[in-house]
Amino acid sequence: MTERLLEGFKRFRGEAYKGVDPEMLRLVREGQKPEHLIMSCIDSRANPAKILDADSGAFFAFKAMGAIVRPHQSGTNLSASLHYAIEHMKVPSLVLMGHTHCGAIKALAEDIDDPEISSFVSVARLALHNAQSIVGVNASHEALLRETEQQTVLQSMRNIGQYPSVKKALSEDRLKIKGWIFDMEGGNLLEFNEASGAFENITHFDPPSSSHDHDAHGCHHG
Ligand SMILES: [Zn+2]
Repeated sequence: MTERLLEGFKRFRGEAYKGVDPEMLRLVREGQKPEHLIMSCIDSRANPAKILDADSGAFFAFKAMGAIVRPHQSGTNLSASLHYAIEHMKVPSLVLMGHTHCGAIKALAEDIDDPEISSFVSVARLALHNAQSIVGVNASHEALLRETEQQTVLQSMRNIGQYPSVKKALSEDRLKIKGWIFDMEGGNLLEFNEASGAFENITHFDPPSSSHDHDAHGCHHG
C-alpha cells in the first residue's frame, strides 16, 4: 500500500541528505526560518509543496477543508499554529490558497447531507451568498462554484485578520496576507488584487495544449 510513498522517500533522502552541505542536516543544525505560512485545502491535487516546487524549510503548511478559516477561537489548531508562526517565528507572509474544483466548496454549494462535513463547510456560507449575488441566478452551476471558491478565500482572509497574532502583526506592519487560487485545469495561479477587487492571473503561462492532455490521458488508460 505504501510502497510508492517509500520509493519517494528514498529519492528525497538521496537528494536532501547527501552532498557537500546536505540541506536537511543544515536545517536541523541551524533551525528553520520559513518566510511563509501557507494555508491550503486538504485536496491531494493542490499540495503547495508540490505545485510551488518548494524546498524544505520554505513554509509552514496548514491545511483545512477548502482552506476555510473559521472566525477566531482560542485554543484551536489554527490559532496556535498562527501564533507560533507569526509571534515566535516572525513569519512575514501569510498565504491563503484555495483551488478550483474544490470538493469542500462543492459540498457547501450543494448543501451536502453529511453533518460532519456540512457543519464545517457552512462556516463559508456567507461566501456562497456573496457568490450567488455576484454571478446572478442565470449563471451556470460551474460559474457559481468558481466564484464561491474565490469568495471563500476572501472570507477566510477577513477571518484570519481577526486572529490576535495576525491582527497584531498587521498593526505593526510586519505581515502581508495574500489570497491565491490554484486554477487546476489551466495551470495558473490567481492572486487577489485589492486595487482591482478581483483575482488576477499572476503566472501568464499558456494553458497545457489539448494534444498534450490527450496524450497524458491516453497514457493512463493505455
Ligand atoms: Zn479543496
